[in-house]
Amino acid sequence: MGLWEHCLGALEHRLKEEDLITWVQPIKAFENEGELNLIFPNSSVAAWVKKNCLIDIQKTADSIYGHSVQLGLSVDALDLPASSEENLLKNQQFMPSSGGRKFTSYLNQFQTFDTFIEGKSNQIAKAVAQQIASNPDTSSNPLFLYSGVGLGKTHLMNAIGNERLKQHPDHKVLYLSSERFVSDMVRALRENKIESFKSYYRSIDMLLVDDVQFFAGKERSQEEFFHTFNTLFQNHKQIVMTCDRYPKDVDGLTERLKSRFASGLTQSIDLPDMETRAAIVESKAREQGIELGSETSLFIAEHLQSNVRELEGAVRRVAASANILKREPTVELAKEALKDIFVAHNKALSLEHIQKRVADFYRVSLAELLSKSRKRGLVGPRQVAMALSKELTNFSLPAIGDAFSRDHTTVMHACRKVSETCKNDNRLDVEFQKLKYELSNG
Ligand code: ADP
Ligand code: MG
Repeated sequence: MGLWEHCLGALEHRLKEEDLITWVQPIKAFENEGELNLIFPNSSVAAWVKKNCLIDIQKTADSIYGHSVQLGLSVDALDLPASSEENLLKNQQFMPSSGGRKFTSYLNQFQTFDTFIEGKSNQIAKAVAQQIASNPDTSSNPLFLYSGVGLGKTHLMNAIGNERLKQHPDHKVLYLSSERFVSDMVRALRENKIESFKSYYRSIDMLLVDDVQFFAGKERSQEEFFHTFNTLFQNHKQIVMTCDRYPKDVDGLTERLKSRFASGLTQSIDLPDMETRAAIVESKAREQGIELGSETSLFIAEHLQSNVRELEGAVRRVAASANILKREPTVELAKEALKDIFVAHNKALSLEHIQKRVADFYRVSLAELLSKSRKRGLVGPRQVAMALSKELTNFSLPAIGDAFSRDHTTVMHACRKVSETCKNDNRLDVEFQKLKYELSNG
């Protein structure tokens, strides 16, 4: 899927359909050497997009590439624009179901079980997802999938929907973000159409709601969603939700909703391990039409550990470089192509930030963490902070030593100690991975 398709996907959830059709679909887009060029059919489209969604396009593009993408904007003076009206008519037949038209699911058809690489980190989540796609069962209703960003929640959710439609093409499967639910509801209220809003949502066979953390603080929407949820649930319709954390940890969600969310099956997706990351890299490369040898795949998997979206961006980058430079995708080439991603990562993290985060995590003060005290409750966290500093930044051992008022050999010792202990002590390993993940994801 191209960068622009990703942007369209994001906009679909942000914008009203008529706006999408009128203002966004007439845009032509092409990618060139990491730049995204947008050509507007006329200046009013350009003005509307700049005012209403350019920032979303920029953000989506940046998040896919993992760095700031240059957007080129221009108005097409020569090419006859497809008039918005024409577009509107052309597209109307694909609009969501009213009056007997085909029901629109808003699923991403490329995100299927086939393209979802399985590993220890997501095995159970995938198995559960496959199970409910084919055989709904009350004990896994609702299915609540949670994880940090870019670990495959949205992908799995789409896979469930796609699989269900494959087996039951007549089912009404609806995928949407919680933001979209909120904006639909607000619009329905404004236009006095809340009854048809309700009946639309309650007529669905499978409801997939992505990123329910965005319901936080929106009480009216939560109430409406609560009722929709209950109706579907009572009618034995499958509900799947995703979230960036466990239900009870979402601030700003009513207690009854939290308990509803956790009432079926809650399942986390963890960070993929090295082998899975390498398998994902290889598969993404193949999707891009390029074979990365195992050495290059391992190199990428080893250096980018924070999430799958980032891996994808890296593969795209390496593939583009190999194509443009007409070179083999070697480790050397990958190093060059990804140089700024590595730098951007490291620049972003200060040693102080790592120290503070680790201190908070272990509930000790920063002063204690940096003190000379050798108390057990302090030595461990201090070593973890040093090891993270070494692993996540480019600072030298002496520089890290300075930041902890210690000598570089102490830092070296800490790194070795932490990596050895992690091998046998599962709890420390989990803590260390969690901190690393949080720090690398800002
Ligand atoms: P999340 O919703 O958890 O933030 P996504 O589902 O959007 O994450 O995943 C980010 C990107 O990584 C998507 O393009 C998705 O297809 C891809 N991805 C995530 N996990 C896997 C996996 N196990 N196998 C293949 N692709 C994956
Ligand atoms: Mg998602």
